[in-house]
Amino acid sequence: MEKGLVESAAVDALVERYEQDVGPLRGAQAVARAWTDSAFRARLLEDGMPAVRELGFGDRMDGHVARLVVKENTDTVHNVVVCTLCSCYPWAVLGLPPAWYKSPAYRSRAVREPRRLLAELGLDLPLEVEVRVWDSSAEVRYMVLPQRPPESDDLDQDELAAIVTRDSMIGVERL
Ligand code: FE
Repeated sequence: MEKGLVESAAVDALVERYEQDVGPLRGAQAVARAWTDSAFRARLLEDGMPAVRELGFGDRMDGHVARLVVKENTDTVHNVVVCTLCSCYPWAVLGLPPAWYKSPAYRSRAVREPRRLLAELGLDLPLEVEVRVWDSSAEVRYMVLPQRPPESDDLDQDELAAIVTRDSMIGVERL
């Protein structure tokens, strides 16, 4: 902006788009579809980006060259996403990262003491649940597929998408 190469309005529009339009709505829709469609779930876990493109926003994700790897939470495994090097984040599906995701404390402690960090963020995991930490990079971005809440049987796909939080797809929250 200082060099006059871009106008601040253009930057604002881009930020706004990723804040409000893109994410974490796309990720939430992918999760809701995976919960209700086992074939889609299999494709999503196999290779994230082509599966997400099926949801109809492919044309606007052409600039995203990174691979999207989706990690599924189970009763015995909990996944959490970090970028230890900088701030790589699956913004194609989750929009802009929260400020804490980029903090040195999160980036180091997610690896060194994930259980304690998660507990401080409000997620107390039983010891029998294995914690797996995924370190993002320019080539590979990770997203967590949270477990479907047990009391969500009556919800349709749109209602399910509405209960999927950004934090649950980063892996610092369980639904
Ligand atoms: Fe990074």
